[in-house]
Amino acid sequence: MTAANMATPEIKHTQLFINNEFVNSLSGKIFPVLNPSTAERICDVQEGSKADIDVAVEAAKNAVKLGSPWRRMDASKRGLLINKLADLIERDGSHIRAIEAIEAGMVQGISGFDLSVGLSNLRYQAGWADKIHGKTIPIDGDYFCYTRREPVGVVGAILPWNFPMFLTCIKLGAALACGNTVVIKPSEETPLATLYIGSLIVEAGFPPGVVNIVSGYGKTAGAAIAEHMDVDLVSFTGSIEVGKLVQQAAGRTNLKRVCLELGGKSPTIVFADADIDYAVEVGHRSVFSHSGQLCVAGSRLFVQDEIYEEFVKKAVRRAKQGKVGSPEQEGVERGPQINQAQVDKIIRLIESGKKEGAILNCGGARVANNKGYFIESTVFSDVTDDMQIAKEEIFGPVQQIMRFKTIEEVIERANKTHYGLASAVFTKDLDKALTIANSMKAGTVWVNIHGMPMAQAPQGGYKMSGIGRECGEEIIQEYTEVKTVIIKIPEKNS
Ligand code: NAD
Repeated sequence: MTAANMATPEIKHTQLFINNEFVNSLSGKIFPVLNPSTAERICDVQEGSKADIDVAVEAAKNAVKLGSPWRRMDASKRGLLINKLADLIERDGSHIRAIEAIEAGMVQGISGFDLSVGLSNLRYQAGWADKIHGKTIPIDGDYFCYTRREPVGVVGAILPWNFPMFLTCIKLGAALACGNTVVIKPSEETPLATLYIGSLIVEAGFPPGVVNIVSGYGKTAGAAIAEHMDVDLVSFTGSIEVGKLVQQAAGRTNLKRVCLELGGKSPTIVFADADIDYAVEVGHRSVFSHSGQLCVAGSRLFVQDEIYEEFVKKAVRRAKQGKVGSPEQEGVERGPQINQAQVDKIIRLIESGKKEGAILNCGGARVANNKGYFIESTVFSDVTDDMQIAKEEIFGPVQQIMRFKTIEEVIERANKTHYGLASAVFTKDLDKALTIANSMKAGTVWVNIHGMPMAQAPQGGYKMSGIGRECGEEIIQEYTEVKTVIIKIPEKNS
């Protein structure tokens, strides 16, 4: 697929998807979805609110109750259905990517990545469906004890805007493999690709009510999920601020489980013995891909004293090379920010960096003469730990390069943050790599690479970057309850 044939897709699904049907919101309200490359309206979408969430949760609750077709379905058949959904998403991949290009400003490489990691998660989790086992446990006395892993029930999945397909697939795959039903609320910025999946849920043959998708705003539809007495788990991906609200809502209501995948300010550490050109390139991508809208962005780049000046020079040269533009233009490396609010926040943080004494090497402003939400590639050097740009998640194309001398110093500084999502180290020295890997208070450590979640490996945050894990076998813990069964054995048989 080329950028040119990604041209404007036909948007067929703008209604809420409940009980396998596309329906209008009960209030009749709609809201616009904008194209971030042009700031123009793509279409209007039905605005779900509390009343619609109530209907969707009721549908999901009925679909997961004992004796329901979904509950009685063989686990292996559940796995087949999830795989079928993955096949349908793959079949319609070009259309889905074209939707993501206009609603999320995703360039070719990013929408391809979003779709492929989404698919690999669905297929990986489909494989778990009939491999979720309990244990037999040798408890004291004449008893037979075993455990069962049962679905938690209704899962409320609240999504951010940065990777709609990947996150829809992660949450759907895990919830369905474990036998749950789902109410998804996509971000109000990017509901279109996720709503499209509703049509594939019907085509794949899922029973009504197993998957429901309600587009709407966070303060209304999102909060209604978090507060709902019949939602058993909220799987939330988004900001720390909203993650806290979700956890508070769970505590105020039915103490539902929460799985929180939140923001980061992840350190990347480059030692003097590293391959500099390679570290510059990977460090660049870790911050500028998808215009910096990456939860795991390597946004605190610590470079050892001996190579600092050379590294900064090369990083600035690299940042100036990448072409910025809308996804349908050929040769574009990255697209726009998602909306005006993000542009304002990023510009405010750039200004604070300048004011606090960091050196602005390139960029620093909105791309001129462009209605879309584009920001120039920005590189700051001589950044110190106390500056706002070194402490706050920027979520934009802004690189912060900091200097360090010793391994002890960098470990302390890298960990001195409330975040703990990811980290990376570049070195040819295995001892240094292992010391860093063991010392980082972060859910993931990359050595000589910077990446994104893999379906097979758990991912999540230490500290304020999250609670619980997604991907890998660990995800089963989040989406199932453990039941213990103890049976008295008649004395003559013991
Ligand atoms: P956000 O927190 O603003 O919104 C996320 C979702 O929460 C949206 O669907 C929104 O409508 C909803 N929401 C808003 N207020 C709510 C409320 N009161 N109750 C319930 N739901 C509410 O985040 P965003 O701006 O969409 O996404 C960017 C953030 O997501 C960044 O901080 C990024 O680091 C994080 N993120 C984390 C991961 C991860 O895996 N850790 C992945 C992607 C994004």
